Amino acid sequence: MRYRLALAAVALLAWFGKPTAADVAVADVSGPCGLPNTGVNLSEGPTNWANFVRPVGRVSVVTIFVDFPDVPATEATTTDFANLVPGGPNWFAASSYGRLTMDVTPVHRWFRMPQPSSAYNFQRGLTFSLHRAYITDAVRAADAAVDFRGFQLLHIIPNRAAAAISFSPTFLAPAGAGVSADGREFRQVVTFGQDMWNWGFKVLNHESGHTFSLPDLYSFASGGGGHPFVGGWDLMGLISGPAPDYFAWHKWKLGWLDDAQLRCVSTPGTTQVTVNPLSTTGGVKAVVVRTSTNVAFVAEVRTRAGNDSAICDTGVLVYQVDSGINSGSGPVRVVDAHPTTSLCGNALNDAAFDLGTGEVATYDNTTAGVRIELLSKSASSDYTLRVTRR
Ligand SMILES: [Zn+2]
Repeated sequence: MRYRLALAAVALLAWFGKPTAADVAVADVSGPCGLPNTGVNLSEGPTNWANFVRPVGRVSVVTIFVDFPDVPATEATTTDFANLVPGGPNWFAASSYGRLTMDVTPVHRWFRMPQPSSAYNFQRGLTFSLHRAYITDAVRAADAAVDFRGFQLLHIIPNRAAAAISFSPTFLAPAGAGVSADGREFRQVVTFGQDMWNWGFKVLNHESGHTFSLPDLYSFASGGGGHPFVGGWDLMGLISGPAPDYFAWHKWKLGWLDDAQLRCVSTPGTTQVTVNPLSTTGGVKAVVVRTSTNVAFVAEVRTRAGNDSAICDTGVLVYQVDSGINSGSGPVRVVDAHPTTSLCGNALNDAAFDLGTGEVATYDNTTAGVRIELLSKSASSDYTLRVTRR
């Protein structure tokens, strides 16, 4: 449903009869629809959990606050911290259907860094070694007061006057190249910057997504401003997008959806699948049509609920996942059902397929050999799809 067409689309529900016998086997996605990890940066293939934080169960975060000799803190840390918590952990609880509890422990005092705020070069090209030096300095400054044992993740927040700490990169280090404290090696660290004041708490969810192995879905080529690949869907693209919940593909990759909640079509034929809204717990959340070695097309149902409460266009979202494409180069690309129009500030924010007047109900990609046709929609927004793999 596109909200500027809401009146026309309300009651046009159709029922096309009982599903017919499927011509293809429909299986869970851990089998023939699981794309390979090709070794690109933050591949959409399976995660090697030896290198990332597994976001299932309780993940314990320690948050330390730093200030600098050139720009000492004058404000209270608790005020700053309220920008991220509890919004960030609550967002994860909803997105993960309760499977992830992010337990954040703040150490409410300022730790003075040994170097001025400009020494780490955040604004003119932060390198791995400078980023590591920043984290090392912060950990050393806090070490006497903080017991780092028992924490899986480290967050570092600078004072607001430290304008030189401009953005919020995530540090991901190979084994042995992390920063150690109290016998614990931190290989995944989020260092927040002043952009956290623009993004709000969802910057925690975006950066944590990297510590969980998710790639950037905005375009590095456009400087992060264009959002040509996924628009405002999935906050690994635009953090402030209207429908920021993680794609079903990401929820499955992270272990928040079971294998059987994604249905796989990998052989030629036609089948019917009913898909439940992504925002509700349980049921089938997506159909995955694998079309080549590294590529699959995914269809999921997005509704105005939960983390997507500000969504601009509801319905069936179709996107391509390519596990051979690097982070920031478009590993996920949303298919636009309305390519000549835009909504809520981006051409893709009205991308959903739907039934009803003014809607587009069929996606047909003859090149890739995949066709997804919306057959019916229930009162609770369960969509029955006819999926053809040629
Ligand atoms: Zn990012």
